[in-house]
Amino acid sequence: MPLSTMKRVLLKLSGEVLMGDQQFGIDPAFVMELAKEVKTAKETGLEICLVIGGGNIFRGMAGAAQGMDRAQADYMGMLATVMNALAMQSALEQLGVQTRVQSAVQMDQVCEPVIRRRAERHLEKGRVVIFAAGVGAPYFTTDSGAALRAAEMRCDALLKGTSVDGVYDSDPKKNADAKRFETVSYGKVLADDLKVMDASAVALCRDNNIPIVVFSIREKGNLARVLSGEGTQTIVTNTEK
Ligand code: UDP
Repeated sequence: MPLSTMKRVLLKLSGEVLMGDQQFGIDPAFVMELAKEVKTAKETGLEICLVIGGGNIFRGMAGAAQGMDRAQADYMGMLATVMNALAMQSALEQLGVQTRVQSAVQMDQVCEPVIRRRAERHLEKGRVVIFAAGVGAPYFTTDSGAALRAAEMRCDALLKGTSVDGVYDSDPKKNADAKRFETVSYGKVLADDLKVMDASAVALCRDNNIPIVVFSIREKGNLARVLSGEGTQTIVTNTEK
């Protein structure tokens, strides 16, 4: 399906993009810039689900590397994603975009639990649904959470907003001759270990035929350009160019 004809997408933002130019945490001014991107995309009539990571605050693997129990550290990471979701909710609502946060770790005073049929209704009513806490289990990442929600919400694509404008055959920061793929297959991403999303997330998208659109969220207006079919991105799908 061409990007410009999509009706419902899931946008995955890694926690790091919420840092702006900081080394850690949340930069509210930059979150507002991201929220503006989402608002512009929404104004085209698109239904938008959002998944935000937590790496700007805490990553389970980093905690485990320092001697913490991995599962415990992962739960801390999940809580970090809820903080980011609330920051994004606040920015979107300041811009007049109605939102609901649904968390895979239940937190009644703060947000709704994940209820698919309720999320459907929110989207029908024009709200952006922000899914927090990934899949709600340790040893997973928010990439897997994004792939899972994209599948269960029947999204036309999973848009992965990062700091690079697509998937390259080698690291573009280290190799000036690195070549960006227009499209690349799930199989190649997995076989060559191309850094798109973690393998379980890529496999889930492959099994459910959900294209992954990798693009840079750091350039102003880029989300709308990508969605209109005029942007620069790599699409991970079953075929390759
Ligand atoms: N996490 C988890 N299960 C999930 C989603 C997230 O345990 O389903 C934890 C895990 O520790 C992870 C952290 O939350 O490192 C933050 O998520 P992630 O690393 O995916 O954030 P991102 O890299 O996208 O900022």
